[in-house]
Amino acid sequence: MISKAKGTYDVLPNESHKWHTLEEKARQICVLFGYQEVRTPIFEYKEVFHRQNEQSDMVTKETYNFMDKGDRELTLRPEGTAGVIRSFVENKLYVETPLNKLYYIGPNFRYERPQKGRFRQFSQFGVEAIGSNDPALDAEVIGLAYSFIQKLGLKGVRVRINTLGDNESRAAFKAALKNHFEPHVDTLCEDCKQRIDKNPLRILDCKIDGQHPAVVKAPTTQDYLNDFSKRYFQSVLTYLDVANIDYEIAPKLVRGLDYYTHTVFEIEADIEGFGAQNVLGGGGRYQSLVKELGGPDLPGIGFAFGMERLIIAMESENIAFEQDPRTDIFFIATDANARTQALKLLFESRNQNMVADMDFVSTSFKAQLKSGLKKNAKYLGIIGETELQNKTISLKNTETQQQEEVPLKIAIRSLKDWLGK
Ligand code: AMP
Repeated sequence: MISKAKGTYDVLPNESHKWHTLEEKARQICVLFGYQEVRTPIFEYKEVFHRQNEQSDMVTKETYNFMDKGDRELTLRPEGTAGVIRSFVENKLYVETPLNKLYYIGPNFRYERPQKGRFRQFSQFGVEAIGSNDPALDAEVIGLAYSFIQKLGLKGVRVRINTLGDNESRAAFKAALKNHFEPHVDTLCEDCKQRIDKNPLRILDCKIDGQHPAVVKAPTTQDYLNDFSKRYFQSVLTYLDVANIDYEIAPKLVRGLDYYTHTVFEIEADIEGFGAQNVLGGGGRYQSLVKELGGPDLPGIGFAFGMERLIIAMESENIAFEQDPRTDIFFIATDANARTQALKLLFESRNQNMVADMDFVSTSFKAQLKSGLKKNAKYLGIIGETELQNKTISLKNTETQQQEEVPLKIAIRSLKDWLGK
């Protein structure tokens, strides 16, 4: 037997309705907020993700890279934003409208150590709003994430927010971190030793050095913000208050990607058994990514939720998912002629928007009945010898146990009436 690849999972038939529920709610919230779906490829040219300024572990260590037969270097996308921006730039979406509000749902790939809520193939629902520096847009994007969580019915959820400031503030913060970590260089992990010069921000979310005393005591962004960045952040918070969005300020939050400036945020849940993977989603503002990918100098802001974690969170809070609709009518036929008749009705029922089925394996009455009951059908439509002779069908309501023999001609109409369809 060949098993699934490490870090992947199957969505089995009895679980797919959970995904439908989540995807449907994501689409609904995006419609309410005026975001349109964009679907970009699962693989891109390597340089979409592997950029000079991007030194995060996710990109440098966790991507799946491969050459195709034409010797092109490709990368399976590890996240959604870079591909969406590549598409935004390539298709010049900025020409038509100054602000593009986009969303996506789909799989990403990261070579990580699998554990609960952490996979090598996982799905994200994310949004990107590209083209405005208005801090109100930050509140809108955070508001969308917040409303989504509320509409899912998740309770123990917090929005944590911070700012990295503009490029100047970020540079000052980076310099401060460098000074702070230099005396500790010998005690940091091999990667962090390199990071001190290249990108000290990444030391703060290092998986090895996360609890290192120097990391715990590291300076926070707040002390290095210039006036503009402080005012910007204050406006975002004011707008969040206006929009009635609860949040907490998290001075140590920096997020794992290098393209963020100004606002960064995460949505966290206290969920039993979740362990370290309690972040449901996160995002932030990026000032230079569009330009870096060859586009105009336009800012963007976005976030992404991990769909698997949302499902785990909903399961652990016992939130009901929308079930697939019940079978309306299940046909049972006792011989070949009856079966032809049943098949005709089966197709007619579906044409009339009834969820209809029959048994394609068993021929005995008993076994077919069992199949119908297992399907939890609302009605059984039985065609036996008598019905065949009388040109009728016996329709049995499985809840009331009432059975009525009706002429074939009016069978579909009667069913529709009884089902209220
Ligand atoms: P990131 O793109 O790293 O900011 O992640 C955003 C969200 O995607 C996280 O909060 C998780 O919910 C989800 N996520 C990221 N990596 C994984 C993974 N390996 N497995 C499952 N979910 C993930």
